Amino acid sequence: MKSFDVIVNGGGLAGATLAIALARQGRRVAVIEAIARNAPTQPSYDERSLVINAASLNILKSLDLLPVELERVPVARIEVNHAGGFGYLTLKASDFGRQQFGAVIVARELGEVLNQALTSADHIELICPDSLVDFAVREDRVEVRLASDQRLSARLLVGADGNRSTVRELAALPCQVHDYGESAMVFNVQARLAPPATAWERFTSNGPLALLPLADGRLGVVWIDSSAAIAEALQWTDQRLLNALSDRFGQDLGGFSQPGRRASYPLVRQRTPWPVAERVVLVGNAANAVHPVSAQGLNLGLRDVGGLVDAVTGAPDPGIHAILNRYARDRQADQDATVRYTDTLARAFTNPSRLAAFGAGLGLAAHAAWPTLSARLAQAAMGFREPVCSLARTPPQASGTGIA
Ligand SMILES: Cc1cc2nc3c(=O)[nH]c(=O)nc-3n(C[C@H](O)[C@H](O)[C@H](O)COP(=O)(O)OP(=O)(O)OC[C@H]3O[C@@H](n4cnc5c(N)ncnc54)[C@H](O)[C@@H]3O)c2cc1C
Repeated sequence: MKSFDVIVNGGGLAGATLAIALARQGRRVAVIEAIARNAPTQPSYDERSLVINAASLNILKSLDLLPVELERVPVARIEVNHAGGFGYLTLKASDFGRQQFGAVIVARELGEVLNQALTSADHIELICPDSLVDFAVREDRVEVRLASDQRLSARLLVGADGNRSTVRELAALPCQVHDYGESAMVFNVQARLAPPATAWERFTSNGPLALLPLADGRLGVVWIDSSAAIAEALQWTDQRLLNALSDRFGQDLGGFSQPGRRASYPLVRQRTPWPVAERVVLVGNAANAVHPVSAQGLNLGLRDVGGLVDAVTGAPDPGIHAILNRYARDRQADQDATVRYTDTLARAFTNPSRLAAFGAGLGLAAHAAWPTLSARLAQAAMGFREPVCSLARTPPQASGTGIA
């Protein structure tokens, strides 16, 4: 049986980043990934535009995962508004002494960088395509059985296997699941007069709509509505889609054109209150999945990665109780706050109650009026929630690819 320090089940964005970080500590890591790396069905590395916040950019940069050739479009201004309601908020990174809140990166392109790093790292064995089907804890090790019937052992097993985590299920870790009954439709468009480095979050009574800056004047659209409405919108002609986008957005930035391919994702909230068991820990979506409003999911997962890396640094045995419990305790406040915050945003503006919509408008107006409130919002948007992990704190290099 092959033996490792750590087995990471799931080579998506969170699992791959964790494996790379652990291998840099000199640990021998096995990554098990169910889907072939370049398969069009690889769920983690599709065409979605991800807003990677400042803290997460620092994490990636610390691990040399932001090469110059990786396209990242800065977000220096965020416009938040409420269709049919009052309240309007503009957040400018410069008001908070920053050049940018974060940057938009296409998941597929980040996936290519991670893939390259995974396959070239000295201490990583990528086992793909294969999947974990069972594990058992034996004294100071965990033994894993794969679908291929191969067996591996390690000090620590990490479940980074997404919303339907097999590791979470086999470890019998309780997870609270809420189905929003909504889906996100994702595509990109050309906008004739898109201002640079600007992202929009518009709350409508049917669900939020985000427009994110991409290269060459294109915008990534994340359009959320009931799953039935999204199923219909996926069938619209391009012209109908563009007209509906202008209506929903309330303006057309000089004219929308050339919509790209549409994809959709059902939305759930998942919270695993205590994501550790004997020699097992969950990170990323395997632990917590959040509504995409305000772009927090992967950012939260990368902070899990940073927290776990800190927790195991220097430990001869990364799987012992004391380490995993400390990790769970240290991460709890951030995980709770992020799940609660995104859930509140997802519900507040779409609540049919006029009172709730009024309250949401008031919330925006209050954030706009009181600098301390918008500073808190901006700080959360940038991902610097205490305790900030070492990888996120690392000062950016002079090359300008990190966050000032
Ligand atoms: C529309 C939309 C927009 C979003 N926008 C943003 C954004 O702007 N910013 C942001 O921070 N987040 C965003 N997110 C969230 C973000 O995409 C996810 O949080 C992130 O992709 C989760 O990464 P992960 O690695 O934890 O899980 P996943 O991406 O689900 O990866 C899990 C991996 O595990 C593998 N796997 C599963 N089971 C097994 C098994 N038994 N054995 C082996 N392998 C297995 C899977 O094949 C997969 O590769 C968005 C999400 C959506 C839906």
